[in-house]
Amino acid sequence: MKERVHSRDVKKAVFSLLKERGVALSDIAEIVYEMQSPYAPNLTMQDCLESVLAVLEKREMQHALLVGIELDKLAEEGKLSEPLQSIVAQDEGLFGIDETIAIGAVYGYGSIAVTTFGYLDKAKTGIIKKLDNKTGRGVHTFLDDLVASIAANASSRLAHHLRDEEEALFDASNKAEDEPTTG
Ligand code: MG
Repeated sequence: MKERVHSRDVKKAVFSLLKERGVALSDIAEIVYEMQSPYAPNLTMQDCLESVLAVLEKREMQHALLVGIELDKLAEEGKLSEPLQSIVAQDEGLFGIDETIAIGAVYGYGSIAVTTFGYLDKAKTGIIKKLDNKTGRGVHTFLDDLVASIAANASSRLAHHLRDEEEALFDASNKAEDEPTTG
């Protein structure tokens, strides 16, 4: 039996691939900030970065990144078979498999993640725009969608966590009010 790949190695590969392909985690955190700050006035970039890191802990997200970035790199080197080589290298608009892989990694974070992904796919904010093949250099047919997927997941995760925190604060202050005063 072949030895199983350790999760630690997969995670390490994902982080170095993102770096190699020009995506800083802060670039993704910026998109998350843009998506969530209108709903959370006290939101910080650190909150967004933490959420991005949490999303990158998910195996499904890691695997999607490995597959997508590998295909981008092979297309960039002209190593795919035709006609796939031309389709991926040209970022053919009707291809759709780049979005399919990215959206597959979005479902685990619920409806906010799905709708945010749809928005980012169209709006292409920040680093997503830079990666878009039609405007930038290199082949990032898969990566732009995958970055949208990470940002959408991190946004959704953050929205739910912020509500949990608000409610915990609310409960704690109510409890304090209910407590009988002594003396
Ligand atoms: Mg794409």
